[in-house]
Amino acid sequence: MLQPVAVGSKTLADYTHICGRDLIEEIRALAEPLKGARVLHLSATAFGGGVAEILYTLVPLMKDVGLEVEWQVIYGREEFFNATKLMHNALQGAPDDLTEAQWDTWQRYNEMNSRELVGGWDVALVHDPQPAAVFQLVPEKAKGWIWRCHIDVSTPNPATIQRLLPYIKDYPQSVFHVPDYVPEGMGGTVNIVPPAIDPLAPKNMALSPDDASYVCQQFGIDVDRPLITQVSRFDPWKDPLGVIDAYRIVKEELPEVQLALVGSMASDDPEGWDFFNATIAHAGGDPDIHILNNFNNVGAIEVNAFQSHSDVLVQKSTREGFGLTVTEAIWKGRPFIGGNVGGIPLQIENGISGYLVDSVDSCAARALDILKDPALGKALGRRGKEHVRKNFLTPRYLRDYLKIFSELQSSNSR
Ligand code: UDP
Repeated sequence: MLQPVAVGSKTLADYTHICGRDLIEEIRALAEPLKGARVLHLSATAFGGGVAEILYTLVPLMKDVGLEVEWQVIYGREEFFNATKLMHNALQGAPDDLTEAQWDTWQRYNEMNSRELVGGWDVALVHDPQPAAVFQLVPEKAKGWIWRCHIDVSTPNPATIQRLLPYIKDYPQSVFHVPDYVPEGMGGTVNIVPPAIDPLAPKNMALSPDDASYVCQQFGIDVDRPLITQVSRFDPWKDPLGVIDAYRIVKEELPEVQLALVGSMASDDPEGWDFFNATIAHAGGDPDIHILNNFNNVGAIEVNAFQSHSDVLVQKSTREGFGLTVTEAIWKGRPFIGGNVGGIPLQIENGISGYLVDSVDSCAARALDILKDPALGKALGRRGKEHVRKNFLTPRYLRDYLKIFSELQSSNSR
């Protein structure tokens, strides 16, 4: 019933020229005593959103260094994903908690998946709250357990976190992006490890300016006019409506500006389509607003092309766990403006490697600054890219996980 995900293969050595020999050697040394360890990644979806994005790179690299890794996706129907989406929103601070029936649904699907889960793992890495109860239900199925939280739980709905806490607090190891996200009452060892992107994946590999504009042109962009882009799921926290409002302010001063909202629909996000339609309605038929999603053939290369070609990249979130789209954007060396929330300030130093904004007006003002001064944009972009190279590429992330696996291994043998 749990679906294994096929991830293809990647080779750590290919990253040496980008990340440096020292890091690659450190990884190999850490991996040596872990060779042959059986590692399970358990998540809610193999498509859409940051978790899937990360696992398509991390899993092949873990295999490449000698671990036996599988990624499995839990079984769930609409009623389950409706409940978990609500839980996700409540954990990020939305006022509605799950109803008693929805908590039951969450518990029931976790029980079902726990029963079906095959045991014998050295490490089970459980991603996010959807499958979080598995550890409590079947602790015997893995020797070591890690709960990986990808969302911002700094100001959760109190009722929701209290109800979830008994299921997550006893994981021997947990991993959060930043210290602020760790809920009170976590037992076990808490690790702070931000995620990372794969510089060699089609979404992030170097595209020539010609190739990038050639792709954008095919989606109706006039490549000779300025373009502002936001890439993200259609989700209220990502604030695409605010991006449209900011674009309108920019357009008053620069009528030639265009906007692209590029968004993927995730299979575990039933709200996505409603909000997609709301975004289209907000655009009001403006021919210079291009709203695209993965059902219009916008895949990884196209996201890369939009990020590489745009004059300004925006992630105007009002909540953001980490924001892989931010990392991806600045890796392209383009000027970036992001909401001053969640994981975004971790990636952007305001005024140095991009801009952090708190409102539609300041987003528009910063976009105008950049559009009017290309040299400014270039300088911001260059510094941003260096910051990503040092801190947010997958080999560093792999190293941090291997350290946690080693700790689990040594605590098991004590
Ligand atoms: N994404 C994509 N196509 C889109 C929109 C988003 O491939 O049209 C990807 C995006 O490039 C990023 C991930 O989905 O890798 C979103 O991760 P992020 O951490 O930004 O946000 P989340 O969706 O997990 O809240």
